[in-house]
Amino acid sequence: MYDQTSERTPARRGEVVPSGLDYAPSLEAVDQVSIDESYDLWIDGKPSPPAANRYFPTVNPATEETLTRVAEGDGEDVDRAVAAARKAYNGAWGKMAGKERAKYLYRLARMLAERSREFAVLETLDGGKPIKESRDVDLPLASAHFFYYAGWADKLEYAFPGLDTRPLGVAAQVIPWNFPILMLAWKVAPALAAGNTVVLKPAETTPLTALAFARLTAEAGLPPGVLNIVTGGGGAGAEAVAHPGVDKVAFTGSTEVGKLIQKRLAGARKRLTLELGGKAPHIVFEDAPVDQAVEGVINGIFFNQGHVCCAGSRLLVQESIYDAFLDRLKVRLASLRVGDPLDKNTDVGAINSRAQLDKIGALVEIGVAEGAEMYQPPCALPERGYWFAPTLFMGVSQGHRIAREEIFGPVLSIMTFRTPVEAVEKANNTPYGLSAGVWTAKGSRILWVADRLRAGVVWANTYNKFDPASPFGGYRESGFGREGGRHGLLPYLRGGS
Ligand code: NAP
Ligand code: MG
Repeated sequence: MYDQTSERTPARRGEVVPSGLDYAPSLEAVDQVSIDESYDLWIDGKPSPPAANRYFPTVNPATEETLTRVAEGDGEDVDRAVAAARKAYNGAWGKMAGKERAKYLYRLARMLAERSREFAVLETLDGGKPIKESRDVDLPLASAHFFYYAGWADKLEYAFPGLDTRPLGVAAQVIPWNFPILMLAWKVAPALAAGNTVVLKPAETTPLTALAFARLTAEAGLPPGVLNIVTGGGGAGAEAVAHPGVDKVAFTGSTEVGKLIQKRLAGARKRLTLELGGKAPHIVFEDAPVDQAVEGVINGIFFNQGHVCCAGSRLLVQESIYDAFLDRLKVRLASLRVGDPLDKNTDVGAINSRAQLDKIGALVEIGVAEGAEMYQPPCALPERGYWFAPTLFMGVSQGHRIAREEIFGPVLSIMTFRTPVEAVEKANNTPYGLSAGVWTAKGSRILWVADRLRAGVVWANTYNKFDPASPFGGYRESGFGREGGRHGLLPYLRGGS
């Protein structure tokens, strides 16, 4: 494992000192969350023990403590979940008018908003993300997605005139660990709004908010079988996507697993959407407002510890401002507070799992070995738990693996460019195509660059901003299909794509 304490380089032009501002800890209370001793699967509207009677631990990555044990689903469990989903589809849910389905979605949206504090704490405990992010981003957006799609449930034929807006049937949805409840909302809300039923497989390291949400659906009176949760590892996910009783597969995760799923489904009569990885370029032109751009770049890569598919992990700075920009970036980096995710002051929380920490460490080690210059600000990391200091790499060339591969951690590779054409060429030099960012004072340049960037989302003079009304998705190895917005309904409708 890469030793984070031994190789820090000082700032290139004089050591950067932290801002000197110390904050007293401001810990979020955890007493509003109660975690059971173990959790079964959620099938047909109620907890259901796994066929093989196996359970796995889920830990708090900030402390390495086991929070609880969760059922490990297998093929037999997936079978039962798909059967329950089919029964619900053929029964009450399938026959329900859109305006009635909408009421359930509105109810779930309201309940998520009302209980957002409890869900935010649970999300932070299980996944390690800072409470200010789960509280201010994940939960409000998850609730907003249900509100948004509730509004479409009775208007599908007006949203898509002439299209067959009937649902597909049973959707198998597999989600990752970086935004557990938000990814659930992105998947479940449009599927239900369109009249489908769901079998969802949450990530192994972060199953708790999905299970809490399942209980919420019972409180909301959602008919049994409309939403089923099969917890477990990749095996359960593989069973779910390959199940012959499934009509639609929606997957968010790594490009590697996405390719496996696409191969597995080749020739099967199933609709598929894939939301995969990214290696987003973040371009800063010399006329950009520097302080705002520095904030944007910091937010672009250190938000959620860099566990973000659309993270701005390749910074392209115009050569003429490189030195000045780098100095400002280092000063800002040194003021990031890394530590207890439950502390409301924390900017960078825990890495989600030991496996992910090892992956980040290995890629950083490769970056150093390939000759890039690494910089980390002085920052004390807690002794227990999984942590990685915010990291910059300078002297990065496009061939370096840290410039090509998704690190999915708090690591930024910095490169330069001279002209807009060169910026676009470098930005597009990636097999991915999920997102990109551009900072400049000129509106015309924003449009010129955005036109040429091959990315599903281009942010201009901002970064990592999400709205349920706005579609999100990739090109090339970042996958296909859109989530969010009106477009996000199409993958769940017969006439859609
Ligand atoms: P992952 O390993 O691909 O896992 C994603 C999900 O798939 C997990 O629930 C996983 O279960 C499950 N899984 C693993 N193997 C499977 C198989 N053979 N068949 C079916 N399901 C399987 O990805 P991750 O490491 O959790 O997530 C990080 C990745 O997600 C990054 O590459 C990131 O860019 C991408 N991501 C993309 C978006 C987007 O919208 N484009 C959003 C967020 C994240 P386990 O948890 O048990 O492994
Ligand atoms: Mg966990």
